[in-house]
This record gives sequence, structure tokens and C-alpha cells, in this order.
Amino acid sequence: MKSDAIGTHVTVAGWVRTRRDSKGGFSFIEINDGSAFSGLQIIADQDLPNYESHVLKLQTGCSLTADGILTASPGKGQKVELKADNIQVVGWADPEVYPLQKKRHSFEFLRTIAHLRPRTNTFGAVARVRNAVASAIHRFFQEKGFLYIHTPILTGSDCEGAGEMFRVTTLDPARVPIQDGHADYSRDFFGGPSHLTVSGQMEAEVYALAMGDVYAFGPTFRAENSNTSRHLAEFWMVEPEMAFCDLEGDVALAVEFLKYVFAYVLEHCPEDMAFFNRFVDKSVIQTLENLVSQDFTTLTYTEGIKLLEKAKVKFEFPVAWGSDIQSEHERYLCEKVFNGPVVLVDYPKDIKAFYMKMNEDEKTVRAMDVLLPKIGEIIGGSQREDDHDILHSRIVEMGFNPDEYWWYLELRKFGSVPHAGFGLGFERLIQFVTGLSNIRDVIPFPRTPGNIAF
Ligand code: ATP
Ligand code: MN
Repeated sequence: MKSDAIGTHVTVAGWVRTRRDSKGGFSFIEINDGSAFSGLQIIADQDLPNYESHVLKLQTGCSLTADGILTASPGKGQKVELKADNIQVVGWADPEVYPLQKKRHSFEFLRTIAHLRPRTNTFGAVARVRNAVASAIHRFFQEKGFLYIHTPILTGSDCEGAGEMFRVTTLDPARVPIQDGHADYSRDFFGGPSHLTVSGQMEAEVYALAMGDVYAFGPTFRAENSNTSRHLAEFWMVEPEMAFCDLEGDVALAVEFLKYVFAYVLEHCPEDMAFFNRFVDKSVIQTLENLVSQDFTTLTYTEGIKLLEKAKVKFEFPVAWGSDIQSEHERYLCEKVFNGPVVLVDYPKDIKAFYMKMNEDEKTVRAMDVLLPKIGEIIGGSQREDDHDILHSRIVEMGFNPDEYWWYLELRKFGSVPHAGFGLGFERLIQFVTGLSNIRDVIPFPRTPGNIAF
């Protein structure tokens, strides 16, 4: 609230966090309306007509409206307070049964009450930071002239090259039509198998190859049964795609993008970030500040493997050229070798998707992963294969049916251009920004294996 509001008459509405009664015949009611981390203190005098009947019965969780004069506060911790002329209770919350009566709750418990947890300090702050990051993402791309496109959630393709998919069907599971021993999806809603998308990238490529620079930002779904603190079954992805762009341009965009987002959050959410820094991760602000000013080191996968082979630490997963780089390896490179963010490029073709552009060595592809301290991979991207015949043979080599990719291949037949893009998991980014260790706590309604009810 601006300090020039002092002395003016205002009406406020919100939920009671605490009530304290003073001996002098008045009460302090702290309310919060979600607009900011700190709430507003309301002073309720015993002269209010409903003081005994209502004000003295207010408990944590009740909703109210109040009006009065904003005054400079003599108390510690707040600049202004409201001297109430009138307090209306809108909804009661029985303290005997209201689950947030206690001050501190475990994140595990709060996950079971996803309908109430946004009323806590942590989840209120997460919601505001999510909003700020989403806004920063759109601003960044809009300022650069990228076109926001909407890619489909339902897809007819059963492999987009990135993880297990959820099937979508209207067939009665008890009476699935069978043809030659297999489910006959020709009788399903779309006349063929359909799934929830795992990525909007291929459709983004369609638009990049007409509109230049585009980005998608929407929900994606993965049926991977990995019950980790970094995986959700439903999460949001940011996917820019640029025509006339190579891997170097892609890396440059990813670095500029991350710096922009971190600087934006530090500037726009100081109160929420101070809270995370105090109660969740004592180094989170410093980490973000460092990233805004630090250089990102780019090196090839092959160079990365050499450094890992030389490492004097015992890894859980073995290090060998040709195998996936695990999160422990990513963190080692960032935290122990470079003491900062790292971009790994040119991965072996066999551990990456078929659409990534082949390098001249014919062993590696133009892939890049952006690795950050503490969490490892946050962005995965690549320059796409723009040569029709090479792409065709890669599809065959990986055991897919080229007919299913006819439109994707045609993009390489008509006006093909070098193009590149990346995918960033929005919740991984929020995890990093807030310092929260479990991805279930940075999305309003987490969907994970065994958990959809709430
Ligand atoms: P990981 O190895 O961590 O499972 P990935 O290699 O499967 O990730 P990509 O297919 O490259 O990831 O997806 C792009 C980005 O989406 C990742 O860098 C990550 O930030 C995010 N991401 C991937 N899978 C998930 C998931 N299940 N839940 C939340 N975010 C995810
Ligand atoms: Mn994955």
C-alpha cells in the first residue's frame, strides 16, 4: 500500500490470520487477502456495535470485510494499520475443525488439504512467484517479438520422442472392441489412438517454419512412473522455437531467458523471496543473484564426460561416453568443477531424440542441456534436423514409422530452414527460484503416480 493512502478511508476484505485482544478494550486482527506476503492489521475497538457478538469470536480462517481510516502504525513490523469503523464477518471458520488453526504444518500434511494450503504463507508466496514467473516469460518473449502459439493437448501421435504417454479414450474399458487380438481404436472417439501431449515442440516447429520465432507455454503430461521430487505427471512447459537459428543461437536465448526471469523475480517479489530465503533455503537469493551476473560455461558432452572420469568422487551411476548424464553428474559439473551454470552440447545421438540435428561426426547431435547448481538439468533443447533424407533415416533407425511423421517430414521438403528450440519445465524453474525441494509444492494441484483425487 502506498504511504500516501494514510489518512484515507478504505474498505478491505480478507481472511483472518490471527486475533489478539488487548487489555485496553480493543483487538488486533491480522488479515491477509493474498495480494502480498504481509497482511494488514485491523484495530477493532470495543465500541464497535458487534464487538462482543462478532469480533471477539473471530478466529483464524474467518473471512471479513472492514472499513475505516488507514493510519500510520506505531507498532513494529508494519507501516500502516486500519482503525475499523465497521467489521462485517462474511464467513465463520470453526476453530475446533479448521485444519490451519496451528501455525506450522508439514508440507506432507498440507498436500492433503490442497483446497486450504494457499492460505498459508508458503503457498501464498509460491502462487505469487508462479504468477510473476509466468508474466516474466510472456514479457521476455513478447519483447523479443516471439509469437505465442497454442499447441494441442490431445494428440494422435503416440510417440513425440519424450516419455510415456497417457491414452485418451471414450471406449468402455469393460467392452473394448477387439480386432486381431488388439484393441480396435478405429472405433474410438477420434477413429484412431489418441494421447495427451508430452510436448508441444513438433507443432511449434510447424509455426516457426511459417512465423519465424514462436513459443508455446502450456500443460504437458508424462506417464513416467517416477515418484521423484522433480517429476509430475502433469506439468507446464515453455517451448520457444526459432527459424533461421542454430544451436549457438538456441543456447544464447536460453541463457538470456533464464537471467531475465531470475532478475524479474528478484525485482518483483522481494517480500516473497525474503521469506523463502529465511525459511526454505538460506542461499536462494544469492544463488539467483549470482546467476544473473555469472557467465554460463558451454562445453561438449564429450568434454563433460572427461571431467567426470577424472573426478575424485564416487558416483552412484557409472560415467561412460554414450550413457546418460545423471543428476549427480550434472550437479558435480556445476557445483564442483565450474562453480556456476553449465551448458552441455553435442550429446551422443543414441541417448537423444531422433529429430535432433546430426553433427558431421555422425556420432553426436546438436543437443543442449542447461544445468544449474542444486538441481541439474532445467532446460533441454536442440537444433532440429532440417535435412529431409537424414531425418527420414533417423526415424527408421529409431524404430518409428515414417508415415506417422509425414507432415513433420514435409516441413523439411518445402522451404526447410535451420531451426532450433528448447523445453523448460515451468515447475522445475519455480522449484529453483523458491528453493522448495519437492515439485509437488510448487504447483497448485500436483498430479503424481497414485495421486489424482486432489
Ligand atoms: P528428466 O531427465 O529430468 O526426466 P527429460 O530429459 O525427460 O527430463 P525433456 O523431455 O527434455 O526432459 O523435457 C524438457 C524439460 O521439462 C526438462 O528439462 C524438465 O525441466 C521438464 N520436465 C521433464 N519431465 C518432467 C516431469 N515429469 N515433471 C516436471 N518437469 C519435467
Ligand atoms: Mn523425463
